[in-house]
Amino acid sequence: MDQTHFLNARLADGSLRDLTVAGGRFSAIALAANATMPPSGAIDLAGQLVLPAFVEGHIHLDTSFYDDVWRPHIPCTNGFDVRERVAFQMRNLEQAAPMAERARNQLELCVGNGSLAMRSHVMVDAAVGLKHVEAILAVREKYRHLVDIQLVAFPQSGILSSPGTAELLDEALKLGCDLIGGLDPASFDRDVKGHLDVVFGLAEKRGAGIDIHLHDRGTLGLFEIEEIAARTATMGMQGKVVVSHAYGLGDISADALAKAGERIAGAGVAIMTNAPGDHPFPPVAALRKAGVTVFAGSDNIRDSWWPYGDGDMLNRANMIGYRSGFYEDCELEAAYDVVSHAGAKALGLEGYGIAVGAKADFVALKAEHVPEAVVAVPKDRTVYRAGREVARGGKVGPKTR
Ligand SMILES: [Zn+2]
Repeated sequence: MDQTHFLNARLADGSLRDLTVAGGRFSAIALAANATMPPSGAIDLAGQLVLPAFVEGHIHLDTSFYDDVWRPHIPCTNGFDVRERVAFQMRNLEQAAPMAERARNQLELCVGNGSLAMRSHVMVDAAVGLKHVEAILAVREKYRHLVDIQLVAFPQSGILSSPGTAELLDEALKLGCDLIGGLDPASFDRDVKGHLDVVFGLAEKRGAGIDIHLHDRGTLGLFEIEEIAARTATMGMQGKVVVSHAYGLGDISADALAKAGERIAGAGVAIMTNAPGDHPFPPVAALRKAGVTVFAGSDNIRDSWWPYGDGDMLNRANMIGYRSGFYEDCELEAAYDVVSHAGAKALGLEGYGIAVGAKADFVALKAEHVPEAVVAVPKDRTVYRAGREVARGGKVGPKTR
């Protein structure tokens, strides 16, 4: 079997190692030998920090306009309104470049920055039917060699308030989506039980995971999270359920949060946050302390929801650390964990990490250690998939497309 040798890799623990890759996985990791005659074709990483590829845990491949024409943000007419934003999105999408092209642009942006596993939500509703799902399933197939993609059938227009959506979600899972999504059961469909009956029912029927968008704030949001946690525990779905955003956890008392954290951790529900700019968001340190898996995603990148987003999960770790008031090295390491190992755990990724037997999907970058990488966000990176270089300086190589 062909072997590739990487010399002088600085690991997260500070040690210098030589890495051997065979069959796309790490077959040996040894103290850097500084041999006078290195194996032929060996790649000298010259002390660069080597980290497992980042995990983009929440993205929307179907709705971004990244690398398409600039679409100025349209504000809601009377405060934030999901229905109005969906209407803006439909109008924008009608004039946009083909979905496969836009999805590829976004995907390459993420890979270029070092993410080689991602979870994308894909819109399903009565108006678009399964069109988005079919397009993104084809994109996933085409880029399978480059990135691992999980797809969530996402009811962007609600379930109960958009007749026919439950059947479409079922069909989306049959076509190949890995997870069933949800959207604000209380504020959008105004029926928490009815909404969750469909979501958990379809998850059970198709053996799928669950990832629910939950923007509801305060005690309403907390109530929904508790309902989701209770159902997860009852159905034995620990480790397969995610609440994305969970803003409600960001504006409750410390006592209420401690109790909620215990319940969420006990039920094995993970929380995804992108540390959005104008919202209270889940307190990362307190939830991690309670044993909750907290991971991250870019969410929207230059789409009809907001103009921000750069597909760089190391930058996302920086934002999470900044907004969380993380200053100590151990806190900066926690911010990095959110975009790497915790993401791998939440997505159930096999063979993640820098270890013998793990997949050789990694990033080499210029930083002394993880805390420096989180604060400096060095853009000079090389990305390796199964031990082969696929991107450098933010760009996917032409041969790997
Ligand atoms: Zn989202």
